[in-house]
Amino acid sequence: MVRAIVGANWGDEGKGKITDMLGQDSDIIIRFQGGANAGHTIVNNYGKFALHTLPSGVFYSHTVNIIGNGVALNIPVMVKELQGIVERGVPTPKILVSDRAQIVMSYHILLDKLEEERLAGKSFGSTKSGIAPFYSDKYAKIGFQVSELFMDEAELKEKIGRVITQKNVLIEHLYHAPALKVEDIYEELMEYRRMIEPYVCDVSSYLDKALKEGKNILLEGQLGTLKDPDHGIYPMVTSSSTLAAYGAIGAGIPPYEIKQIIAVCKAYSSAVGAGAFVSEIFGDEADELRNRGGDGGEYGATTGRPRRMGWFDCVASKYGCRLQGATDVAFTVLDVLGYLDEIPVCVGYEIDGEVTTDFPTTRLLEKAKPVYKKLPGWKCDIRGIRKYEDLPENCRNYVEFIEEQIGYPITMVSNGPGRDDIIFRNRK
Ligand code: GDP
Repeated sequence: MVRAIVGANWGDEGKGKITDMLGQDSDIIIRFQGGANAGHTIVNNYGKFALHTLPSGVFYSHTVNIIGNGVALNIPVMVKELQGIVERGVPTPKILVSDRAQIVMSYHILLDKLEEERLAGKSFGSTKSGIAPFYSDKYAKIGFQVSELFMDEAELKEKIGRVITQKNVLIEHLYHAPALKVEDIYEELMEYRRMIEPYVCDVSSYLDKALKEGKNILLEGQLGTLKDPDHGIYPMVTSSSTLAAYGAIGAGIPPYEIKQIIAVCKAYSSAVGAGAFVSEIFGDEADELRNRGGDGGEYGATTGRPRRMGWFDCVASKYGCRLQGATDVAFTVLDVLGYLDEIPVCVGYEIDGEVTTDFPTTRLLEKAKPVYKKLPGWKCDIRGIRKYEDLPENCRNYVEFIEEQIGYPITMVSNGPGRDDIIFRNRK
């Protein structure tokens, strides 16, 4: 059976923690999209880790961790991350990398940086990890698949020559930087080949067999619905689909095998990068929530950038869960809100004088003003509570109010960063 854990918001909802927790009873954990541009923070018995490329199951010795074909694979980052966790006492995990995954090249990162500099104030807030140039090349059919690392030398050099001729026009004439050389790129690819060889696998056939054997498989998403290139806040989105549906493609399994879709929603909002953010808050109010948020503050796991903060947005989250096809909602970081006397919740968007609960396209979203309802706070620390009935009444009311507004069942409530900080709730 396949379960997907995906974000219903702008990312950073706490998916890593939920994946780490559900990894306990999974056999295989798969990353199916995105690259090293975002990260998951995981707190477990080995310490606190920020993972960018490795699946969150790497802390268990019983799981196979797979990097699927849909991922933007940065090989040196993956290898370094693997060494990093092993050095900190984590047993060497079992890792497989799809022979169809494509490789983030050093020139993707270079072009990402050069383009962000050129766009200056009009940039997309890229993390400069090469993700947009990588996916552009993938769809322009000039990317390098892991399988191509094993081509013969002449063939590979011929392809490199073809690809960099085009890159060099941009590099030399638009950005005025030194041209790429075939020999350097060839050496880069040979280095990647040495690094990745032990992990390469025909992942879709591996998974086909695993499904027939009844294995438990987890698909681990990165970012959230609102960063999806089709359904998110285009153009302030990422370059690969963040939706559970893409899990089938980015892992290489039939779509009907995905039986459970856990949409992770954070009990308040945060976002990184530019783009409309209707329930955003500013000043002291935002600073307080940012510093209390997550586990040690809401700062990017990859970039360390302070995240933009806001109140819970029912309009965006309802939409976020709908596009994910949520069968379950995991409602996270609820413990953080315990300091507030009352908690505003965004229940509608006012656009041109009309209130709507439907999430609009970007052009209208930019005009939307939040409509708030204030709910009473619970003014205590709820960490350590393990039963839903033991939560303070106002806290339960907050959960149930939001569940009703978004229209999807909140079956898990996370009240701390650790593996065991979770409350399971029966479906209504
Ligand atoms: P992801 O990319 O969706 O995995 O999210 P991040 O890792 O970027 O952000 C989630 C942050 O919140 C991490 O620092 C987690 O350790 C932390 N976290 C996750 N769940 C909870 C929770 O229920 N309570 C608290 N206080 N922190 C949490």
